[in-house]
Amino acid sequence: FACFGFNKLILNSLESKGYKTPTPIQKAAIPELMLGRDLLGQAQTGTGKTAAFALPLIEKLENNKESNAKVLVMTPTRELATQVADSFKSYSAESTNLRTLAIYGGTDFRNQISSLKRKTDIVVGTPGRIMDHIRQGTFKINNISCLVLDEADEMLKMGFLEDIEWIIDKLPENKQMVLFSATMPNEIRNIAKKYLNEPAEILIKSVKQETQLITQKYINVQRHHKLDALKRILEITNEGVIIFVRTKLLTTSIAEALENSGHSVAVLNGDIPQNQRENTVDRLKKGFIDILVATDVAARGLDIPNIEHVINYDLPQQAEDFIHRIGRTGRAGAKGQAWSYVTKSDNRKWKEIEKILSI
Ligand code: AMP
Repeated sequence: FACFGFNKLILNSLESKGYKTPTPIQKAAIPELMLGRDLLGQAQTGTGKTAAFALPLIEKLENNKESNAKVLVMTPTRELATQVADSFKSYSAESTNLRTLAIYGGTDFRNQISSLKRKTDIVVGTPGRIMDHIRQGTFKINNISCLVLDEADEMLKMGFLEDIEWIIDKLPENKQMVLFSATMPNEIRNIAKKYLNEPAEILIKSVKQETQLITQKYINVQRHHKLDALKRILEITNEGVIIFVRTKLLTTSIAEALENSGHSVAVLNGDIPQNQRENTVDRLKKGFIDILVATDVAARGLDIPNIEHVINYDLPQQAEDFIHRIGRTGRAGAKGQAWSYVTKSDNRKWKEIEKILSI
């Protein structure tokens, strides 16, 4: 990391986090961003992409303190916003006076207004809430020197395109732009063409490398035998488990069934209030909960270090989401296991998934 020219304070933070060598995306992206170039990167979570953009941006803020410049990062979900903000905080932990704030929907607006009134250097948020604050004049954007769109394809899927364009059009023209996306559909290429200025383009083909660390098992099962099959797996594997199911209703009914069998279980789905979701993720991280039953809300972005097993109780609607789900395990070089139940009616989808994984 020292070769990139980071200041000592950043290097100290990295050392205390135990980062020794940069990941491929970091090797490729950091020099470009340090030069001030725009960047279009195709990479998934688990590759170290957050540090790839956060570190050079922190370095630049440190070097231009008197300019009052700010960095804005947009993410699709509240969870990812919190996580990216936490990463910025930890990488700048030794730096003087850099303040990071996460703003997203589902939490108190007034608190955010008072936080935004104080000097803030890095704002990480979801597009809807950022837009609300810009509209109300509670988020001053005239000093934004860099905009990062993180997991842009996911923001698009969630229907944020108009909001994002509305926001970009309000920002100062002369800013650095970074766009990261796990996939590169035409809509993302179009955004890049429209807003990025001769970007460096980086593609990290990580799916295979990542999934190679994950032992995959699939089990042919009849739909009505799934719960029993799940309980059997949990007899041997009952810590650091995420179980993905298709509906919110199923998250609660399965969690109940598992609790009745004596497991410590929590639920994560779109209906759970924001503060409770954060609390759940935190308790899982700390190991207070062994098993999380979740819908795909939890599949993207969450970085929970001690997940050893992902169980696909139901296959995801979209075959590509499979990669994001199983990417919750095998993080940053650790080994993991993924189990998938495949019923007869899943056969077609399973073939698609196999193709993506090139098993
Ligand atoms: P990300 O893809 O940004 O979600 O990062 C995935 C995980 O890798 C996070 O837990 C990071 O803390 C960790 N990580 C990122 N870069 C490095 C590195 N160079 N060395 C070790 N761990 C890293």
